[in-house]
Amino acid sequence: MARYKDSVCRLCRREGIRLYLKGDRCYSDKCAIERRSYPPGEHGQGRRPKVTPYGVQLREKQKARRIYGILENQFRNYFHRASRKQGVTGEILLQLLETRLDNIVYRLGLAPSRSAARQLVRHGHVHVNARRVDIPSFSVRPGDSVSVAPPSQKLQVVKDAVANRRRTEMQAWLDFDEKTMTGVLLQVPSREDIPVPVQEHLIVELYSK
Ligand code: SF4
Repeated sequence: MARYKDSVCRLCRREGIRLYLKGDRCYSDKCAIERRSYPPGEHGQGRRPKVTPYGVQLREKQKARRIYGILENQFRNYFHRASRKQGVTGEILLQLLETRLDNIVYRLGLAPSRSAARQLVRHGHVHVNARRVDIPSFSVRPGDSVSVAPPSQKLQVVKDAVANRRRTEMQAWLDFDEKTMTGVLLQVPSREDIPVPVQEHLIVELYSK
């Protein structure tokens, strides 16, 4: 599968905001947005070209895609799934992304970033309803419990993440028991409960052309 291999800080600098892709470093003054708050590349510090409405929509889609670490085709598939459901397409799109297993592991504070969460899942360290699931895009449903497999609870990356988990701002739609390292998805979050700086209606407009 294709993967983005360049510096992820470039992605934040391109979008002009912190996307929190690197874990602890994102909360420190070493964050690249702090040090170089202009777009990456040779012309990053030059005059900004005028952005067209299409460009604004495109940037919004790229921002969402980069926050959740999803490739173009998969993101488009999420949009098609959302557009087939009844309700507000943009909100449903974000709900589908938020209930991915890797995102839930990140939101529970079991990993410092979504990419670290994805790796934990892929390597078989995560259980859903007490059964191992190693598919990061697995869709978690309300009532499902998500936990770190007992032998994996000793992993340093998990211990560090749990020790710093207040930083990831636990969401009201999740419950977490630190003793058992188990979280539960209480309900599908509404748009107000999803703290991502994305104007999803622009993504819907982009894909609806
Ligand atoms: Fe983005 Fe984190 Fe890099 Fe800052 S440190 S630019 S928030 S990935």
